[in-house]
Amino acid sequence: MDEREGMSPGFKFNDWEMRGVPLRMELGPKDVAKGSVVLARRDRPGKEGKAFVPQQGIAAAVAQRLEEIQQALYARALAFRKANTVDAAEYGEFKAAVEKGFALSWWCGASDCEAKIKEETKATMRCIPLDQPPGSGKCIYCGQPAKEKAIFAKAY
Ligand SMILES: [Zn+2]
Repeated sequence: MDEREGMSPGFKFNDWEMRGVPLRMELGPKDVAKGSVVLARRDRPGKEGKAFVPQQGIAAAVAQRLEEIQQALYARALAFRKANTVDAAEYGEFKAAVEKGFALSWWCGASDCEAKIKEETKATMRCIPLDQPPGSGKCIYCGQPAKEKAIFAKAY
């Protein structure tokens, strides 16, 4: 509860949003009279993210909202990752991909290839996904047989 005095509600709302608080509960005199609470989602600014809910059962309502927020943020992050990942099959495509986002490419497993890629593109391996495509391919750098795909990107 924010009991700081001498600050407008707008200042407090913004202050907590800046800190990353996902859900704000607003409780004014009118809400108390009506037995309701305003829940405001950080991930949906404005009226769209506000809901008037009864004080009765507020704990369950908050838990449900937090679950929805988690799912929405996860879905947004996943969509962003998918939109910015290129399944690069040749080195030119790979180099272009890591300029803007992620490249998913076959990698032979040699640390030498990883080092050369880093030297030439500034991209480093981010991870080797557990969920691998079937079969095998050719290393994006040396062209040797590769059994797994790895994700490369520049670090910022
Ligand atoms: Zn290689």
